[in-house]
Amino acid sequence: MHLVVTIDTEEDNWGGYSDATFSVENIKRIPALQEIFNEHNVIPTYLVTYPVATNRESIEILRVILQDGKCEIGMHCHPWSTPPFEEDRNTHNSMLCNLPLELQHKKMSVLHEAIKSNFGFSATSFRAGRWGYNGNTAIVLEKLGYRVDTSITPFTDWSEYQGPDFSKMSPVPYRFNPPEIFTRNQEGEMTEIPATIGYLQGNYELCNLIDRLLTSQLGRRFHLKGLLNKARLINKVGLSPEATDSHNMIKLMNVFMRKKYEVVNMFFHSTSLQAGLSVFVKTKEGEIQFFNRLNEYFAFTSKAGIKAVKLSEAGKILQGAGNS
Ligand SMILES: [Zn+2]
Repeated sequence: MHLVVTIDTEEDNWGGYSDATFSVENIKRIPALQEIFNEHNVIPTYLVTYPVATNRESIEILRVILQDGKCEIGMHCHPWSTPPFEEDRNTHNSMLCNLPLELQHKKMSVLHEAIKSNFGFSATSFRAGRWGYNGNTAIVLEKLGYRVDTSITPFTDWSEYQGPDFSKMSPVPYRFNPPEIFTRNQEGEMTEIPATIGYLQGNYELCNLIDRLLTSQLGRRFHLKGLLNKARLINKVGLSPEATDSHNMIKLMNVFMRKKYEVVNMFFHSTSLQAGLSVFVKTKEGEIQFFNRLNEYFAFTSKAGIKAVKLSEAGKILQGAGNS
């Protein structure tokens, strides 16, 4: 099994969809985070937004790590902070997938070129801001030479946020050909490596069916999901130190190891490195807890012999194996 760690490396302005300017103070915390990665031989993938890819200090911080061969840099497109701004600045348009193909292409090209000129290489890994990804996004990715996408959150529906519905997707990576982003294709040119979200119970099809029934109108009306979660009949958890403690992340890993998954994908935001920016880490104690979770989790993966690789490398492993 291989581990990838993908970090949305972005501006401080959480949810600032109509902001005119952006700051990137949280990026100064990355060297401390990188120390944890170095200690545990983890090579992370920093997926950067436009404000990060164009700020002199951020570029310098990330370039040092990149030049040491200790990370990968990929693209993370927040349409609300990536020029050109031809759309209305609102929540609906904060989802890249809600913009016309042409405008997606313009924004992603601008960010792609910014990464190229400031870091000196062409990125090949991508995640959409707010998971706002669709077939048109994938068409643009292919045009720009991207090979790996990680914009899918399994078993999760973002419709109420005007985003995509991934509730029927599983955490198993697969090859595909744009624009058919949900169709596994053994010959696919691109690889989808979803953010790892799973159930602590083994039977995923059954869990997913129950989960969808419970989030249906009827289920919501009777608060069934909370009851079942309490009874520990189904527990959905994400492989992310933002919402999951190390104990449950390790439990989830044990499920995946039994299922013989080839790649798992830990995910979080750079804004969680500084208390008060993301919705996940609100206090100084929260910051410490966040770092502890990472240390405990990586101690487990090292001991279990799970190798941590860059996102693009995981894509190559999956392509090479002809994996479905
Ligand atoms: Zn983001």
